[in-house]
Amino acid sequence: MRPVQKFNIGHVLSDGQLVTANYNPYGKANPILQENLGSYCSYCEVFSSDLEVEHVISKNQDRNLETSWSNFLISCGRCNGRDNKTNKHVDFSRLYMPHLNNSLLPYEYKEGGVIAINSDLNDTQKEKAQNTFNLLGLDKYPGNPNYPPTSKYPQGFPPGDKRWEHRRKAWDIAVCKRTDYENNIIFARNIAEFATQRGFFSVWFTVFNAHIEVKQQLIIAFNGTAINCFNDDNEQIERNPINTVDKI
Ligand SMILES: [Zn+2]
Repeated sequence: MRPVQKFNIGHVLSDGQLVTANYNPYGKANPILQENLGSYCSYCEVFSSDLEVEHVISKNQDRNLETSWSNFLISCGRCNGRDNKTNKHVDFSRLYMPHLNNSLLPYEYKEGGVIAINSDLNDTQKEKAQNTFNLLGLDKYPGNPNYPPTSKYPQGFPPGDKRWEHRRKAWDIAVCKRTDYENNIIFARNIAEFATQRGFFSVWFTVFNAHIEVKQQLIIAFNGTAINCFNDDNEQIERNPINTVDKI
């Protein structure tokens, strides 16, 4: 998941308005979230014109946070849908979240739309990465043993959940673009511009792992990417270096 940096309360928006602590009704925050974070689902990273204000702590869990800017991300209907996050309990100490952690670090993006847990994590971190999968269902791809086939769902999850397939296509396109880039047919900026119209920052960032210049352009081009999650060589770094429990 792309790590993101939310606007602070008081941030001056493009129309001159300030970001406020509360939005009532919360839907008013939608365009502000998209100015801040781009038109990407905060979880699956798809580029979409149909994103919803996402209550990180659900309204069921804490009604007091229903209008709170600090509790908002933006998500697609699938990530926040009935079969995924919806009203599940959220405990930040047991999860990785894109606005609090370097949410790229716990995961490895791979060919075929696959996301796996980074094998370099310690056991506690692996558990948090798995909890985050369980919350969002981002690891729903055909063949994942965590989602065995059932009579209702032969691929192990509802057929409408195409997040893995969108990720797979983004991967395949990124690989083609990488060849063009290495043959000097296109430039880093072109790749970033193209990628912003598809989403899946994490996929692009992974495919272009060896190309610092492209990674730099991706970080710049995707609105709201948390720049403190990358070092001068555009490598992923821990976001919470003074946290003694978990620096990710
Ligand atoms: Zn999503």
